[in-house]
Amino acid sequence: MYPLYRPRKFMENRLDAMYFKGLPVSQFIGYKKCGNFENEKLCREFHRLGLPIQELTKKLEEFQPDRIFVGNTFTFLWRAVYEIVAECKRVMPKIPVKVGGLYAILCPEHAKASGADEIMTLEEKTTSDNFIKIDTDLFGDNLPDRIFLGTSVGCPNHCSYCAVHIVEGCTKVNTSPDEVVSELKYYKSMGITKFIFLDANILYGYENHFKIILDKVIQEDLNIELYSYGGVEARLLTDDIAEKMVNAGFRSVNIPIESASDIIIKE
Ligand code: SF4
Repeated sequence: MYPLYRPRKFMENRLDAMYFKGLPVSQFIGYKKCGNFENEKLCREFHRLGLPIQELTKKLEEFQPDRIFVGNTFTFLWRAVYEIVAECKRVMPKIPVKVGGLYAILCPEHAKASGADEIMTLEEKTTSDNFIKIDTDLFGDNLPDRIFLGTSVGCPNHCSYCAVHIVEGCTKVNTSPDEVVSELKYYKSMGITKFIFLDANILYGYENHFKIILDKVIQEDLNIELYSYGGVEARLLTDDIAEKMVNAGFRSVNIPIESASDIIIKE
């Protein structure tokens, strides 16, 4: 009963878009901030995304689980956790509900106030949990066109607003480049050609890790599309690295803003 993947189609209110093995309660719904930065009500306005709560009720009755796990990564999606836990408890008051994911690890008391019986702790999370591996049999014949991958965990920086050093550690731990490339080739052989890296700081220690991956992808002419959702530290990105990334198949990266203050940027 553990969801491993949230496909793009998830947002389209389609039952067949859910590739969960077992009971799909985690990330069943979500809320998204709306408005713009000028909007003083920004923090209070949310759009509800995902399936109606009645679908969860139906699934609970159909599956009759003996334990329920609710996973959530983003702290700002706590409303979804509260809504799901409340519905699980309403429909199945005797079935234990456990909340896990980064939200629960970072805000255990807040997560506990959802009414859940148990909250996942940092100690329950192992380093290997951080390396995202997709169990492709979850997709059946309905393979996605893109896969999320982690090639490393942890970050040696200590940015005050970031939780990576708490949940992944301050030492960057890499998956071997050979393993990463063989995974890429495996998915490619299944017809998947788009890969999105989720590393926290993919360019840290570049020469000994990510450069080797990029070189192998280029040498083997994998002809794949690569993306990074974040994790590209601006000060580590040089012209040479950017060129190699493009040669390996990178189509886009998200580079986080470092600071709006000239003084801090200089420091
Ligand atoms: S560099 Fe990025 S991942 Fe590392 S601590 Fe700062 S914000 Fe977090």
